[in-house]
Amino acid sequence: MSRRLSPRDVAFYLRGRLIRHVTRLAHARDRTPPVVPIPVDEVIRGSRAPQALVRLLEGRSNAERESAVARYLRARSVPFALHRFSSGEGSGENFSVDLGAGDRVLLLAAHHDAVDGSPGANDNAAAVGILLTLIERLAAAPPPKLRLRFLFTAAEERGYLGARHYARETDVGELVGVLSLELCGIGDSVVIWDAADETSFLPTVNAALESLGLGRDTSYHVVGRIPMFGSDHRAFASLGVPAYGFTLVPSANAEALRQFVFSPVRSALRHLIRRPAPFDTYHTPRDRGGTLQPAALALALRALEAVIAAAA
Ligand SMILES: [Zn+2]
Repeated sequence: MSRRLSPRDVAFYLRGRLIRHVTRLAHARDRTPPVVPIPVDEVIRGSRAPQALVRLLEGRSNAERESAVARYLRARSVPFALHRFSSGEGSGENFSVDLGAGDRVLLLAAHHDAVDGSPGANDNAAAVGILLTLIERLAAAPPPKLRLRFLFTAAEERGYLGARHYARETDVGELVGVLSLELCGIGDSVVIWDAADETSFLPTVNAALESLGLGRDTSYHVVGRIPMFGSDHRAFASLGVPAYGFTLVPSANAEALRQFVFSPVRSALRHLIRRPAPFDTYHTPRDRGGTLQPAALALALRALEAVIAAAA
């Protein structure tokens, strides 16, 4: 079946292409040696902490990353739905795991693909590892009146392609909120981004973060639309669902990050040479598991558990 592309689809597609092109130019001379991945079965048999699960994807091709997620879920006997898509823009497989009951659905997403030439540890194997850990922790006692959906998307780096297909073909009316996890492995403060509009979901997220003792504008930040980055939540936001990005950053870099992400033109050239963490490794051959911080992964887990509890 062919589908007419909307102007928004075209914009997402062009944005994806531009980012891939700029990335390739910027890192053409990076000589960091490639990551040698360990066998998937070894990861499956090993520790189930997010840091260890990063190795499920790190350093593999996108086809291998995709199949590693499905293999992990099957090996752990986690029932999942497979959502395969194919269009002129590309193809791939999204996987979703539902836990709990009820007609309200909280969706947590993490893309399993990476840009060419990057091992893709913080972007986005860390987020996949966090969701797999959450599934393991919550499977025994999921919330009684809220369904949790863990969505592992393909082709986020192609203008959120997997998420766009998924969002179009799912009942978005049952979604109470969406968080798309990006760059969750480095830093000590939580950023909720693309949160320009007040929605029914945003106060739930804020209350959850405050319940952990995090302070607004110190250990957690809520920011508006970020011009030069995006993630899968935008595929849902464009259909009217309250949907935000969820990222960790080092609080020491808060001001540098603010300048970096909100004044793209001015900072783009300057920061091609030196970008503040976590963007110093973002989309580069240096985005490796060794740069991830266990404390950051633990904070992301606690924050998401708090959001789930607050939404339930
Ligand atoms: Zn990403």
